[in-house]
Amino acid sequence: MKILDIRDCTIGLDGDMRNALIGFSDHTVSLVAIISDQKRNGKPVVGYGFNSIGRFGQSGILRERLIPRLLSIKTDELLCSDGSGLNPEAVASTTMLNEKPGGHGDRAGAVAALELAAWDLNAKLADEPAYQTISKYFKLNTTDNSTETYAAGGYYYPSDNETKFVDELKGYLESGHHSVKIKVGGISLSEDLQRIEEALAVIGSGKRLAVDANGRFDLEKANQFAEAIDIYRLRWFEEPGNPLDFELNRQLTLHFPIHIATGENLFSLSDFRNLIRYGGMRPNSDIFQMDPGLSYGLTEYQNMLKELESAGFKRQQCYPHGGHLINLHVAIGLGLGGCESYPAVFQPIGGYSPQTQLQNGRLTPSDAPGFGLEQKENLYPLLKSLSGLI
Ligand SMILES: [Mg+2]
Repeated sequence: MKILDIRDCTIGLDGDMRNALIGFSDHTVSLVAIISDQKRNGKPVVGYGFNSIGRFGQSGILRERLIPRLLSIKTDELLCSDGSGLNPEAVASTTMLNEKPGGHGDRAGAVAALELAAWDLNAKLADEPAYQTISKYFKLNTTDNSTETYAAGGYYYPSDNETKFVDELKGYLESGHHSVKIKVGGISLSEDLQRIEEALAVIGSGKRLAVDANGRFDLEKANQFAEAIDIYRLRWFEEPGNPLDFELNRQLTLHFPIHIATGENLFSLSDFRNLIRYGGMRPNSDIFQMDPGLSYGLTEYQNMLKELESAGFKRQQCYPHGGHLINLHVAIGLGLGGCESYPAVFQPIGGYSPQTQLQNGRLTPSDAPGFGLEQKENLYPLLKSLSGLI
């Protein structure tokens, strides 16, 4: 097999909402295509990938550094041992030639987009959905073809906030979700508590409602908030403080029973290791949300899982950030706790294809080869124009 070309483009995301810290209206994503010389069903095999949601595209890093490194060596050096596809670890390590450790930033998303495209390519070469390829590669023998999900929403909208908020939550339940996550920390504590009570009136149980502060609080405010929501017995309290403030995280886990969720803004194995060492995370309690698309891809993510399990945690405590098809396949293939859904936002990357089934709070992807990105109707034209080969 040979790689004929690697291309990227930057695409915008729909969304005029905010969390406690940022607006999403100008966020972008890097979409990449690895074009191979192989054919299946008479069509060229192309692997597609992207970095995840909530950041910006990395076209400069991809075009000036990472893609030229991959194209400068023979494809043979990037193949897995039996030659049946790309070795994702070799793809990731080749993109990182001459890069210093630490200071991960946008580079971690750019490498991830390419490494994840290698997984899409490999699954298409094997003519199977990516979760099967992932499970086989890591010798996990996953038998499930579905995973738990929850609807991530409850944003602060620019107008009609209250009506939109309640209608949004009702819509999630009607579409088959059992659990919902809403944003907090963007308004006063008393206003947030009112929103939580409105949400509970729709959802019915604190066990099915999580809240996400997106790193908004300092320790004093995080403590106040955790104390105020204690009576609701919510599902989890996500990113109470800055994602790199491990002592703040530890203080909350020491003093409050509520499950703490964090990790979506950790971009590397070494950042994750610091969370395990210093963040006070509790086995069988707290939730890890590292996102392969923001942190060097699936190879790095698998290394995080190894450390997580050897420290006494379970992979079922992992719910990767980023409600899209790639992380749905990752969650099933690796046997994680579940993945999030963005049913209404962040299109065309967020959400799932019409062929993805949602029933009783569980998602089942289609049998389309790879991540099935081509089945997303609003993503398909962008994939087509990037590769020119669909
Ligand atoms: Mg979050």
